This record gives sequence, structure tokens and C-alpha cells, in this order.
Amino acid sequence: RKDVGRIITGSTGLDELIGGGIETQAITEVFGEFGSGKSQISHEIAVTIQLPPEKGGLCGECVFIDTENTFRPERIKQIAEGFNLDVDEVLGKIHIARAFNSSHQILMADKVNELIQGGVNIRLVIVDSLTSHFRAEYVGRESLATRQQKLNQHLHTLQNIANTYNVAVFVTNQVQARPDAFFGSPTKAIGGHVLGHAATYRIWLKKGLAGKRIARLMDSPHLPEGEAVFKITTEGIVD
Ligand code: ADP
Repeated sequence: RKDVGRIITGSTGLDELIGGGIETQAITEVFGEFGSGKSQISHEIAVTIQLPPEKGGLCGECVFIDTENTFRPERIKQIAEGFNLDVDEVLGKIHIARAFNSSHQILMADKVNELIQGGVNIRLVIVDSLTSHFRAEYVGRESLATRQQKLNQHLHTLQNIANTYNVAVFVTNQVQARPDAFFGSPTKAIGGHVLGHAATYRIWLKKGLAGKRIARLMDSPHLPEGEAVFKITTEGIVD
């Protein structure tokens, strides 16, 4: 892949784990239980994408597809201030798209193409959460295949945007932490992960001691499996 760009997460440990930051032309999935930090990383990179390359960004704007009303402008303000950025300017470069159901979410992803073709310098698309509407709408065994098919179609759209416009796609996926998750293969121990083959990078977030978070890179074809520890502070994500 040519001209791959990288976006810092705020934690150098986490950046190193994934090869230097969140990549363009790729889909990065973070999965973990409620409160593990998925939305916090989403808010962080909505800001860092705007930094110049020498500071770890791509001078880009982002689309934030918000499915559960988790987007918090006040949180963006805190993170932007930590980087000495102008808050209003930063907020103006985050294009919020509230998705009310899965069809609407799919439509929102299609609209990103129009935004970029209209001249907006979008370099990051965040979907927080990728899976919640699909899970809520397609319940029961008999609808699993349809759910998977719709989700694959949505991911295909996102991957196309990533490849065509050199954009980074970052998606979150809430999963239940199970007591047996620490035995055997963590991948097999976690229920409901459906994106295994669709995401380029998969990061498993866990809560650690004293407010720490542990990120583990899962089954990556060209990066070593490993872990990074980071913290969530008022200023955002740090080592
Ligand atoms: P999820 O994985 O469900 O998206 P979040 O990303 O919302 O989880 O993480 C929520 C956690 O982030 C909170 O429990 C808290 O530990 C931490 N957090 C949120 N806001 C702040 C803040 N301003 N300062 C410090 N920690 C915060």
C-alpha cells in the first residue's frame, strides 16, 4: 500500500503496538466490554487526526458516526486543550452523523463519499459503535445470516472509502467479557466477534488495575501479538 498515513492515539505504547498509529487504507476495530475505553480512543483520534504530520496527525477532518449518542463535545474540548488547539476549530472539523438504526448507519457511510467528493478533507471515519444497531435489530438465530450480510456490506463500503481516499476507518465493537476469557485463546473466548476477517487490525481492550487499560493486538498478519498499557486522563489517552 502506497502513502499509508498514521494517526497517534496519545499513548506511544499503543501506537507502537499497532505499528506507529492508526493506519489509513485500513479498518481498525477496537473491541471490549462497556467502559473499556473504546469511545475515549474515538474522541482522542477525532482530535489527533487534525494535528500536522510532525505531531502525529494528518491535518485532516473526520466523520464521527455516532450510534449510541456517545459523542461528547465537552470531552473533545478537554482533549483539544491538552494539545493547545482552538476548541471551536477542532469541533468544526468533526462531522457528527447520528445514526438512528442500521439502515441509517449504512446510509451515513455512503454519504462520506459525497462529503469527500465535495472537497472536505476527511482522513478518518469513526463508527462508534459499529455493531450495536445490528445486534439490536437482528436478534435470534434465524436472523444471524442477514445481520452478518448487512454488516459485511457496511464494512465493504467503509473499506472502499479507506482505499479510495486514503482514509483511516476506526470502528468499535462492544463484547461481553467472560470469566473464561483468560484461559486458552482469547479470540475463541469472546462471544459475538463477527469482524474477524473484515478488520485489518483488531485491538482487544481490557480494564486493568488502578484505572489502567490493557490493549492487546489480535491475530495480526504482519505485526507481533503483544500488549500495551495506557491510561485515560482528563487530557485524553496517555501511556
Ligand atoms: P466504552 O468502551 O464503553 O466506549 P468509554 O470509552 O466510554 O468506554 O470509557 C469510559 C471510561 O473512560 C470511564 O469509565 C472512565 O474511566 C474513563 N473516562 C471518561 N472520561 C474521562 C475523563 N474526563 N477523565 C478521566 N477518565 C475518563
